[in-house]
Amino acid sequence: EINFFFPKQRTLAVIKPDAMEEHREKILEEIHASGFSVTQLKETVLSREMAEEFYKEHREKPFFSQLVEFMCRGLCMMLVLTKENAVEEWRAMMGPTDPDQAKTTSPNSLRARFASDILHNSVHGASNEQHAEEKIRFIFGDICSDAELTGDGQTAK
Ligand code: ADP
Ligand code: MG
Repeated sequence: EINFFFPKQRTLAVIKPDAMEEHREKILEEIHASGFSVTQLKETVLSREMAEEFYKEHREKPFFSQLVEFMCRGLCMMLVLTKENAVEEWRAMMGPTDPDQAKTTSPNSLRARFASDILHNSVHGASNEQHAEEKIRFIFGDICSDAELTGDGQTAK
């Protein structure tokens, strides 16, 4: 007997301030159309301290202060997306960090269509499962357990 088990996975997605006014509805539509479940959602303006903590991995980068400034300039939408292989699939939907690159390699990606430059690139997605869980806990707190992931896999016999 061979069991194929496809566990659900969660990722943290953010619609960044540059995309909130013009593109939020379209992005949400495409998230649903791609089969993600939105299991947590909130809109918030990040404080400077929160933005710094959220992007702490980039603290030493030359663009860090611009990035923090940008991320707290207006509302963000924070989403927990749940699906098989969610981390990788959401990264693929976003496309590469730089929209100029996205336009050539993945013209249908969100960043190819909605980002204006490498800083103002419309969406965020966790880069791996560990980051996803860490950022979900940071944004939504412990109230958001991973219980939603259990008991819903597919078993083939
Ligand atoms: P990603 O968001 O694709 O995972 P990174 O983790 O490398 O990309 O960078 C985090 C964010 O920092 C990017 O989404 C973008 O907003 C900003 N950023 C990355 N590289 C640059 C750069 N060279 N100049 C300005 N901003 C950048
Ligand atoms: Mg990253």
